[in-house]
Formats: sequence, C-alpha cells, structure tokens
Amino acid sequence: MLGATGSIGSSTLDLIAQHPDKFSLYAVTAFSNVEKLAKIVKAFSPPYAVVRDLESKQQLQGLLGAQASQILVGEEGLCEVASAPDVDMVMAAIVGAAGLAPCWAAAQAGKFILLANKETLVTAGGLFMRAVQHSGGVLLPIDSEHNAIFQCMPHDFNASLVASGIRKIHLTASGGPFRRATLAELQNVTPEQAVAHPNWSMGQKISVDSASMMNKGLELIEACWLFSCDASDIDIVVHPQSVIHSMVEYIDGSVLAQLGNPDMRTPIAHAMAWPQRITADVAPLSLIDIARLDFEAPDYQRFPCLRLAREAAEQRGYSSVYMNAANEVAVQAFLERRLSFLGIANLIERVMSRADRGEPCDIHAVKEADFTARRLAEEDL
Ligand code: NAD
Ligand code: MG
Repeated sequence: MLGATGSIGSSTLDLIAQHPDKFSLYAVTAFSNVEKLAKIVKAFSPPYAVVRDLESKQQLQGLLGAQASQILVGEEGLCEVASAPDVDMVMAAIVGAAGLAPCWAAAQAGKFILLANKETLVTAGGLFMRAVQHSGGVLLPIDSEHNAIFQCMPHDFNASLVASGIRKIHLTASGGPFRRATLAELQNVTPEQAVAHPNWSMGQKISVDSASMMNKGLELIEACWLFSCDASDIDIVVHPQSVIHSMVEYIDGSVLAQLGNPDMRTPIAHAMAWPQRITADVAPLSLIDIARLDFEAPDYQRFPCLRLAREAAEQRGYSSVYMNAANEVAVQAFLERRLSFLGIANLIERVMSRADRGEPCDIHAVKEADFTARRLAEEDL
C-alpha cells in the first residue's frame, strides 16, 4: 500500500479491514505523517513500513515500541516493497511524480498494479504500459472515471477501440467547486475554496486539480495510455452530480455508463477483487433521491488547464512531463499563497512552451525532464 496515509490509502485500508480473509498487508508507506502511519501499523501489523528518511524512521520506531515491522526509508525502500517477491498486488496511491519510481519497480516486477497515481501515466505512460506488458503484469485503474470506462469495456487489454466496436469515450467531470464562477471571480479564489470539492473528499493536490480542471486534463492523458487511444477519441462532459463516472459509446449507438455514489471504495473494491466482486459498504445509489442528472460542455476559456492538457495529450512525451511538473509546483505555490489561482495555468503554459518535442527514451530521461521542468517552474514563480 503505497501512500497508506492518504485519502485513497484510507479507503483501501477500510476495504482490507472489511475483508481480512481475502487480503493481508505486506507494507505500508508514508511521507510526512508518521503518527498516522504508526496507527495504521498498529492496526494491521504489516511486516514492512516505509518512511521518508532516517529521522522519520526513528520517530516511527519510538511510536511503535516493540512492534515488529521492519522500517525502510526513501525511494529505495518504496521500490523494494513495490517489487518484493511476496507481494501480489500493489496499490499505487502516492500523489504526484513522487509515485513514479515505485510504480515503475512494480511494473518491472510484473505485479498486479492498482493505479491511483495518475501522474505515473501522465509522465511515463508509454514506457510504463510497455513495462507492464513486458513483465506480464496487470494494470487496473482506480481513478473512478477510468475504472468506470474499464467496467464498460470488453476486457481484452490488447484490443484497440476500433476492434472493440467503440466509437467514443465520454469522460465525465464534476466541474469542481468553481463550475459556475466567472473569470473575474476565479481571480481571487482562495486555497480553502479550491479544496472544498462539492462531491468527493480527496487529498489537497487532486482537489486543487479538480478546481482548475487540470485533474480532467491529467485524466484525459491517463485514458489515452490506458485505453490505447488518441485525445480525439475522448470527449469531456461536465456532469455535476458525479453519479455517472464515465461512459463508452459503441458503433451501434449503445452507450454504456457506470453509475454509483461518489465513494472511492467502489472502484478500489472493483479492482481489488477483479474479476470477482466484493462488498464495499458503499451506500446504495438512490436514483429517486438524486432525481436528475445534468450534463454540460466544458468551458475551455475559464479552465485553460483543459486546453493545455489537450495539447499535451496530442504531443505526449516531454510536453506531458513538463505540464505535470509545472502543475505540481504551481499547485503547491497556490496552496502556500505564492501564486494566484489563474496563475496556475499561466505558469504551466510558459513551462510547457520550453519542452522538447519527442518522447523520453527511458525512465531516467523522464526523471531528468521532471527535474528540469520543476526548476523552470520555480524560477518562473
Ligand atoms: P493524499 O494527499 O491524500 O495522499 C498522498 C499519499 O502520498 C500520502 O500517503 C503521502 O504520505 C504520500 N506521499 C506524498 N508525497 C510523497 C513523496 N514525495 N514520497 C512518498 N510518498 C508521498 O492523496 P490522494 O487524494 O489519496 O491521491 C493519491 C493519488 O491518487 C493521486 O495521484 C491522485 O491523483 C489519485 N486519485 C485520488 C482520488 C481520491 O479520491 N483521493 C481519486 C482518483 C485518483
Ligand atoms: Mg478521477
């Protein structure tokens, strides 16, 4: 469980606790929240825990006392547990490009990967998909939209959209907390307003991404890699109730949708049990209570991150790496009140314009480009 202390981490641990006969935890990882990790270790007794550095390790040892988990540190520790021979399944729920190295290790080791960390596909999609295929691994999407699309598709991982009779993918978006805001209002929004998502409770970074709609942009690129298609095969539709999690349109006119309450335990349970089903303790969907489902076109003017992500989805390669890195720096700066909300897209656009054309040839090149783009973004602030 990479990123055990996060929002996806909590939902996953809840499911593991519900099904102790089916799953047992091998390792849990955290970055800064050592106290929360200590509570998780006490509750689940995994053989391994991974923390940021030696200082955090000492802190965790102090909190755990005689508890017998072995504590590893840093990226090396993350990669070690993600590829350990005793591990069948890896939940990849670290936020940001920091999740890339352990995801890569899991892919190379042929693991059954449950991928929440969309930034891995955005930055290294081509390399990552090939690594999974090469090693005989399996990749199942946790992102609710991609999990929905997967559920609406025939489960032949290698078939193209055309071969499956699919005409279009409809990626739904809630529109975030600023769906109705004018450009003038967007100028002055605060981090507190941005992280208050109307339907989903999530980590801070993805909440800001949802407010800027960069989250949908990242998901567009994620979908292109997962389902081997082009950005032009995917339409984005704003659906404020977040009940339909996405749709697949077939050439005979059929449109299949996956519906459910906005609770991440549904896609996580689906992927953990696939191809079976398990209970998730999610409230049943009441269509009568919901009463109506609305749809609208996305506004590329008020949400320029969508336009930038479409460009990156068409160019892929370094453009996507630069876009993602600049976004991570911009979101952090916005949360620290060093950048305005509308400044996020402007910064990304300037950094993206500096990206080379083409694809990084290996994971090292991805990391280097990520590093360079972060430096350019920091200098630009
Ligand atoms: P979060 O901020 O709640 O948790 C992030 C986790 O990553 C924490 O456990 C943290 O310790 C760890 N982490 C952060 N920085 C790290 C670093 N540098 N090195 C190692 N570990 C680090 O985030 P979240 O909302 O759970 O999201 C996790 C991932 O899942 C993101 O990529 C997000 O886009 C994706 N996702 C989340 C949701 C959701 O509902 N929360 C839905 C779809 C996709
Ligand atoms: Mg999503």
